[in-house]
Amino acid sequence: MKPLSTLFPLLACLLLGALPVTAADPNENPALAGRLPDDALPKSDEEYKKRLTPEQFEVARKKGTERAFSGKYWNTKTPGTYRCICCGEPLFASGEKFDSGCGWPSFYAPIDAAKDNVKGKVVAEHADRSHFMIRTEVTCRRCGAHLGHVFDDGPPPTGLRYCINSASITLDPK
Ligand SMILES: [Zn+2]
Repeated sequence: MKPLSTLFPLLACLLLGALPVTAADPNENPALAGRLPDDALPKSDEEYKKRLTPEQFEVARKKGTERAFSGKYWNTKTPGTYRCICCGEPLFASGEKFDSGCGWPSFYAPIDAAKDNVKGKVVAEHADRSHFMIRTEVTCRRCGAHLGHVFDDGPPPTGLRYCINSASITLDPK
C-alpha cells in the first residue's frame, strides 16, 4: 500500500491527462470569436472534432438532432446575431426569431433573406428523405454544417419556419 501523498499527484496527473481526450474544449473553437477566414476553415471531421463539443459535432457534422427543449437557444429572446458554430458565418438574426413552441430555435428567415421572400445565400437547402419523411434540410452554405430543417408552416411575412439546432449556432448578443 503506497502512502496517500504519492497517490494523489498520480491521480491528479491521470485526471488532467484524460480531459483533452474525453471532451473538446469549446474555448478552443475559434468560430466562437468570429467569422473564420477561408484559410482557417477545418478540412476534415477530425479537425472539427477537436473544436466542437461532442454534441455540436454530432449535430453539425453528422446531421444529428438535439432533443426538443434541451438546446441552449430554444427559448432565448436576447437580441443578437446567430452564427455558424463551425465557421462563424452569420446565419440568423434575433429579429426573425419567433416562438414556435416546437422546442428548437425557430426563425422565419435567414439573416440575408430579402423582404420579397428571396431566401438569401448563407443557408442552403437539400431534400432529406431520412426517417420515412420528406423534409428540407438546411445547411450552412459556406461550410456545410447541418443546421436543421425548414418547413412551410411559419408566420408572416415568409410563412417559413427554419427549425434550427442550438448546437449548430452560437449567439453574439447585441
Ligand atoms: Zn458554417
